[in-house]
Amino acid sequence: MATNPYDVSGPAARGEVFLVGAGPGDPELLTLRAYRLMQSADVALYDHLVSKDVLDLLPPSTRRIYVGKEREKHTMPQEAINGLLVRLANEGLRVLRLKGGDPFIFGRGGEEIDTLAAEGVRFEVVPGITAALGVASYAGIPLTHRDCAQACLFVTGHLKDGSMDLDWPALARPRQTVVVYMGLLGLPVLCAGLVAHGLSADTPAAVVQQGTTRDQRVVTGTLRTLASQVADAMLMPPTLIIIGDVVRLRERLNWYRPGEAGRLRVDPLSVDQLPVDPGAVAS
Ligand code: SAH
Repeated sequence: MATNPYDVSGPAARGEVFLVGAGPGDPELLTLRAYRLMQSADVALYDHLVSKDVLDLLPPSTRRIYVGKEREKHTMPQEAINGLLVRLANEGLRVLRLKGGDPFIFGRGGEEIDTLAAEGVRFEVVPGITAALGVASYAGIPLTHRDCAQACLFVTGHLKDGSMDLDWPALARPRQTVVVYMGLLGLPVLCAGLVAHGLSADTPAAVVQQGTTRDQRVVTGTLRTLASQVADAMLMPPTLIIIGDVVRLRERLNWYRPGEAGRLRVDPLSVDQLPVDPGAVAS
């Protein structure tokens, strides 16, 4: 008979895994649930996209395991990460799997919980603010706008053998915004491809490095100019590319000042003031 992973009444109550989105960098963008789980986990597995400011919110006693995942530098292969999650949960631990942005947006979160599901390990997924949303807000670029963008596409711009496997006609449609993850290396191919498929070379476009953090940098230009501007500025990953007329709005809406005083001031909320989790089942 298949075991029900949510039945904790058995003699050997096992551990559990929380697959949690850590947002794009600014720790203030964590969800309440992510923050709460960070305070109660036994062990945290994280990769390079989880910002230092977020990790600093883990209690010092929490065991931390870095599982890497920089481009071409996979510290731990995906199968090993999946296996480790299962093993730690089976030791009875409360495991926090922290991932940059949202676990289900270009994060292979589905693969990780697939293994957990197959092994009967209890798990929960906590969404996070994906890079596109966080970065666009902090760059002052609304992703949709009644006047110029009625749709928004998220795509990955991973280069494979020097080319990009993208649905070019769909990306080159008018009146939409295209957000490209993992596209820095392929930026020249991307810009040229969009123009070849019908977008004007004057279409506004931006690259945002380390969005929402103190180190955020933004370069804006057009499909014609962006690749060389970005090369001159020597931007480094992680970067997000935003293409479309909405980029022009940044001239007026750019509010975030990277650095200590980047955001407007809000009175701090102490941890004790966090509302009680209404979904928690008393045990
Ligand atoms: N799950 C993540 C995306 C993982 S793919 C999410 O939902 O955001 C990794 C890519 O995300 C990077 O190559 C980059 O394109 C983008 N990215 C993540 N954080 C970023 C940040 N702070 N600034 C700019 N781009 C970021």
